[in-house]
Parts: sequence; structure tokens; C-alpha cells
Amino acid sequence: MGQGLLTPVLALRDGALACEGVALDTLAEAVGTPSYVYSSAAIRDQFRQLDKALSGIPHRIHYSLKANANWAILRLVRSLGAGAEVVSGGELYRALQGGFAPEDVVFGGVGKSARELGEAVEAGIRLVNVESEAELRLLDGIACERKRRIPVGLRLNPEITVDSPHAYIQTGGKGHKFGIPYDDGLSAARLAASLPWLELAGLDMHVGSQLAVLDAYERGLERILSLLEAVRAEGIDSIRYLDIGGGLAVPYEDERPPDLRAYGRIVRDVARRSGLEILVEPGRFLVADAGTLLTRVLYRKRSGGREIAVTDAGMTELLRPSHYQAYHHIEPVRPRQRVTVRIDVVGPVCESGDFLALDREMPDIEAGDLLAIRTAGAYGYSMASNYNARPRSPEILVDGDRYAVTTDREEYQDLIRLERHTLDWKNP
Ligand SMILES: *Cc1c(COP(=O)(O)O)cnc(C)c1O
Repeated sequence: MGQGLLTPVLALRDGALACEGVALDTLAEAVGTPSYVYSSAAIRDQFRQLDKALSGIPHRIHYSLKANANWAILRLVRSLGAGAEVVSGGELYRALQGGFAPEDVVFGGVGKSARELGEAVEAGIRLVNVESEAELRLLDGIACERKRRIPVGLRLNPEITVDSPHAYIQTGGKGHKFGIPYDDGLSAARLAASLPWLELAGLDMHVGSQLAVLDAYERGLERILSLLEAVRAEGIDSIRYLDIGGGLAVPYEDERPPDLRAYGRIVRDVARRSGLEILVEPGRFLVADAGTLLTRVLYRKRSGGREIAVTDAGMTELLRPSHYQAYHHIEPVRPRQRVTVRIDVVGPVCESGDFLALDREMPDIEAGDLLAIRTAGAYGYSMASNYNARPRSPEILVDGDRYAVTTDREEYQDLIRLERHTLDWKNP
């Protein structure tokens, strides 16, 4: 099933799975479990595939930090030529710390605070994608105070329904919280063009995540193009960028990967008709498949007729199964058993919703077995939490037959680092 279709980020070597040249069981001995392991080669490969699909089109790939923002990965994607896309002041800070030049950063998000907008103006980034008229006015005021003009894009809600596997990752339908409603696009453009400290430099859409079927995407772009025409008809000709968002899908189970050639054709057509530079904001596509979450089976038990394996990783390390009912392929790092079972693979957190897989048919596993949870490079560590006072797990980057720890495992002291033990009472 799914197994055969996943790209071979992991391969069997001497009876155990290896990430590039690094055997996962040896690695787990060295760094412990749970831990996240990322393949540099896989990230490079995805980047090059996308870049190739866009060849001949004036474009820039802005990596969406929220998928996975550790310093080593930022350095890697930056070395490949990517810019950054951030959705918070914290991510802007990370991007700049990670070595991105301010002019390589695009800032999006539905709820940017005055402080965050001020930081974007201060840094002098490439583009702030604005999601309402109120935000346009706020940003203009902030830019005025600092006497720095700031390029803005308008994030439009094209109001299309996309075929995405879970409602929580659709963002471009009517009534969604994201973007400027399509019918208000022209008046928002007039406002942006009239505000003295803003430069209307782009139009933007991001219609959701895990988009494998591209026709809705294409319909969204058509609507943005007609708006562009209407804006230009009013004599507003400052727009340079068309930001077409992220959302490219990766296969988790047995889905077909997105057709990059079809994607390239759509984008090429839009670039030609608009005459604009295209910005794309992939997150998941670049890093998801590269990542594996290593976890060990702590206990095997049976309850109410169900087979259960309790692992040392759960929703605190990988929220996607419980939050989005997402599928992640799970396989033993050293496959021994030929017998398959139907089993619930569950985490140690005190929540019934804490599971990695329910009723999964897979090779039988025992306490002590090491498991590889696939496609965990995006929205794994970046959505990790300390719930149940669980220290966050380390991140490891593999390159050829070498590995390096890029993020240390948290210690218990880290969990209470911000708490005060003497209370400094004040009267307001
Ligand atoms: C999350 C997000 C992305 C990246 O989405 P992926 O599905 O990971 O490619 C891009 N742009 C914006 C505005 C986002 O919020």
C-alpha cells in the first residue's frame, strides 16, 4: 500500500532502516528517543524539483517557517536559494537569526499585532501580506511613525472550496477567517494605494494545505488575475509580486503526489498573463518527507479486544494524528515479525486522543522495538508541546553518513525556567 509509494528517504541496510548513510537503531542508541531525524538530501531534492518546475518563470521560493524552523534547516534551505515566509514576530526573529536578509522575508498571517508590524517595518522586509483594511491603516500609521515606507501585499480570499483532506487546513473558502473577502479586494487596493506610507506591491492568496488537486488552485488564481486587471484599470500600477501561497501536498499514505509539471504550467501561465514575479511559500512540501520521528515501544497490551502498543512519543511530539486525524506511516526500524496485527499505536500522554495510529495493520511489534514514524518533518517539532511536563525531543540532521544534533533534548529545568519562585506582588 502506502509504503511502496513513499519516496525512499529511509532504506533497509543490514536489516535496519537507515536515513541516508545513518542507521536509525545506532542513532537512537546515541541520542535517545523520541527524536526527530531529518534527511538533508531529501530537502535538497524537494527544493530542486520545485525550482525546476518553475524554471523559466521569474520566481522566488519563500520557505514557510511554520512547518519546521530550526536553525540548521533554515541554513540549508537558504543555501539552496530560498527566502523565508513568516507568520509571527517570533518567526521573523528566527528568520533573521537564521541568516535571511530582511529583503528575503515575506510576512503573512491573520492576526499580526502592532508590535509585530513594527518589527517588520523596522527590519525593512520584502513584503507584508495584509489581511484587512484595519490592518492596512494600522500598518500605515506604524510606518509613518518610523518614517519608513513598507511594501504590502493584499491577501485575498478567493472564496473557492478546495479539495484538502481536513477542514482545518482549508483557508480560502467563503467566511473563513483568512484574507480580504474577494468582493472587497478592489476597495482594499484603492485604500492601500492611497495610504502614504504603504506601497501596494503585491497580491497574495494561500488557499490551504495538502492541495493535491490543482483545479481549485487554478480557479483561485483566475480570480486574483481578474482583480489585478481591475486594479490596473484604476491606474494603480505599483504591483510587482503575485504571491501564490504554499499548500503543495506530499503523500502520507497512498495519495498521489501533486503533479509538479501541471503546477508549473499553471504558474507559468499566470506569470505570463500578469507579467509579475511569482512568490511561492511552500512549507510541508520541502520538509515533510525528509523527517522521521523515532520512538520506542514501551508496553504492549490488550484491552476490550484491541491490541495496543504504548510508545514514548505521542501527541506532544506529533499532533497531526489527533488534531487532523492524519495518517502517518509507521514501521519497525528492524523488521523481524512477519505476522501482521491490527493495532492502536498510542502515546503516553493522559488523553484518550493521544494516538499515532488507530486500528493500523502493520507487522507485529513488541516492547523495546524502535519505530520510525514517517513524513514527520513538517508540523512535527513545530507543533510540539510540553503538555504533561514532557521535555521536547531533540532534532537531528543527517547528511550522507554523518549526523548532527541541531536542537538538544529539553531538560526538566527548562520546563520551569520562566517560573518565579518568589512572587513580586504589585498594586496596579
Ligand atoms: C502555512 C502557510 C504556508 C505553508 O503551507 P504548507 O501547506 O506547509 O505549504 C504558506 N503560506 C501561508 C500564509 C501559510 O499560513
